[in-house]
Amino acid sequence: MRLETRGNGAALLPSDAVCYTPETERTPVVHTLTTLAPLTTRLLEIQRINGAASLLSWDQETYMPAGGGEARAEQIAVLQGLAHQKLVSAEVESLLTKWVNPATGQALDQPDGAWDEPARSLLREAWRDFSRAKKLPSDFVIRLSRECSLAQQVWAEAKEQNKFGMFLPHLRTVLALKREEAQYLGYKDSPYDALLDVYEPGSTIATLRPLFAQLKARLVPLLKKVTQSSVKIDDSLLRYPYDTARQLEFGRLVLIAMGYDFERGRLDLSAHPFTTSFHPTDVRVTTRIYEHELQSCLFSCIHEGGHGLYDQGLDPRYFGTPLGESVSLGIHESQSRLWENCVGRSRAFWRFFYPILQQIFHHQLRGVDNEQFYAAINCVRPSLIRVEADELTYNLHIMLRFEIEQDLIEGRTTPDDLPGIWNQKMREYLGIVPERDAEGVLQDVHWSLGSFGYFPTYTLGNLYSVQFYEQAKIEIPHLEDEIAAGQLMVLRRWLGQKIHCWGRMFTPDHLAQRVTGSSVKPEPFLAYLEKKYGELYKL
Ligand code: ZN
Repeated sequence: MRLETRGNGAALLPSDAVCYTPETERTPVVHTLTTLAPLTTRLLEIQRINGAASLLSWDQETYMPAGGGEARAEQIAVLQGLAHQKLVSAEVESLLTKWVNPATGQALDQPDGAWDEPARSLLREAWRDFSRAKKLPSDFVIRLSRECSLAQQVWAEAKEQNKFGMFLPHLRTVLALKREEAQYLGYKDSPYDALLDVYEPGSTIATLRPLFAQLKARLVPLLKKVTQSSVKIDDSLLRYPYDTARQLEFGRLVLIAMGYDFERGRLDLSAHPFTTSFHPTDVRVTTRIYEHELQSCLFSCIHEGGHGLYDQGLDPRYFGTPLGESVSLGIHESQSRLWENCVGRSRAFWRFFYPILQQIFHHQLRGVDNEQFYAAINCVRPSLIRVEADELTYNLHIMLRFEIEQDLIEGRTTPDDLPGIWNQKMREYLGIVPERDAEGVLQDVHWSLGSFGYFPTYTLGNLYSVQFYEQAKIEIPHLEDEIAAGQLMVLRRWLGQKIHCWGRMFTPDHLAQRVTGSSVKPEPFLAYLEKKYGELYKL
C-alpha cells in the first residue's frame, strides 16, 4: 500500500514554493576534488555502501514484514562491516597519513600550496572519521550493528506489550558493547564523552553541564508560574476526530510550502517519525497519524521536513565526502526545531495556514478562531512523552535522559534499575509518574540502537534553533510578514546558504559563530520562551 496522498491543496500556495535548487556559486570544488581524487573516490564508494545500509534501515521501519527482522539485521551488519573495512584500509590510511598531521588532525602544508579551504576541511574531517573507525575492530563493528538491529526490534515489541523485562537482556548487551566502544575510542574525563563526540563534535559533559544548569534554573520556575497561572488553555479541540488521510494531505501541503522537494523526497508512515537520506536527490521523511491527536502528524511533518530540507540542501558535488554531510546532530536538530517551533508554533505561520486547515476540517474548526488555535498548540502541560512535549517542558525530558545515560555508561546504574530511576526523576522534574513502562523508560528507541550520547543533541538543537532564527529575523527584512503570507522559501533559502550547503566545512561551533557571531548559548532560547509564555499565560 502506498501511503502518499494526492491533495490539490498545493494550488493554495505561493507560486515560488515548488522549486528550489541548492546554491552552486561557491568555491573551486572541481579543483579540490581533482587534487584529492585518490581519496574521495574511495570515500564515495564507502558512502554508497552506507547509503544502501540506510535504505535497508528505512525499509525496516516502513514496509518490511515483521518476519524479516533477523535476516535484515544480518544484511545491515554485513554492509556496515564492509564500509568499516574500506574506511580503515591501508590505501585510505596511506593517503591520509601523507596529507594529514596525525598529531593535530590538520592538513599538512604542501610545497606547492595545493590546499584551499575546502580541501583542508575535507582532510580534517576525513581524518576524524578514519582515526575513530581505526580504533574499532571490524568484528566489533559487525557485532554492534547486529545486536542493535535485534535489540531495536525486541524493544518495539516490548514497548507494544509494556514488558521492560523482555527488552532488558538486549539492553544489557547493547550497553556493554557501548561501554566497550568508549574504551576503544578513548577519553579524558568520562567514557560518555567518547560517545557524545560522535554525534556532537567538540561537546563534552563539562561543556554541557553548565548549559543544562542554566536551563534548569530558569525553566523550572517558569513552568511553576505557568501551571499556577489563572489562564487555563483549552486544547481539547486538538483531540476531536480528524480524518487521517486529510491530516496527511495537510502535512504534505506544509512540506511543499517549506520547499521540501517531492521530486527528491518521499513521505511515508512509521511508528516513530524520522528522516533518512541516501543522497541529496533521495531524502525521505516519515510521520505518524492519530485520528484524535491533530498535532502529532502536523508537527512531525514540519519537524522531519526541517531535517529533510537540510539533507536536500547539502551540496551534491561534494557527495561522498565529509563536505557533503551534515555537520552534527545538534545542528541537524536545530533545523527541525526551528521549523517546528519558531515557525510552526508561531502566530505568523497560522495567519496563512489556519484558514486552509479550517477549510479542510470545516466541521471541527468552524467555531475556533486563530487565537484559540494558537493557544491550543502552545498549551503547556507536563506530560509523559518527550516527542509530544511542549517547548517549555521538552528540555526537562532531555535532562533526565542525559543524567541516566551518563550513569549507565559510567557504571553507576545498571539497566535492571532503570524503571525505578526513570519514574523517580520524572516525579522530580515534571511532577508526574508514568503508570506503564511503555510510556516511561520504554518510550524512546535510542538506547536499543546503542545511541547513548544522542539525547543532549536535542537540547543543543533547541538552543541553536532560536539563536539561528533570531539571526534570520535580523537579516531577512520582514521575515514574519513573509511567513504570514505563506512565503516560507525566503527562510528556506537563508538556511540553505548559511547552514545547509556547507556540510562539514566548519565545526559546529565555528558554524554557529559564523552565522550568529556567537557559540551556542541558552540566553536567546530562554528569552524566547519567557516572552512567548509570559504573554500567553499573562505571567
Ligand atoms: Zn529531530
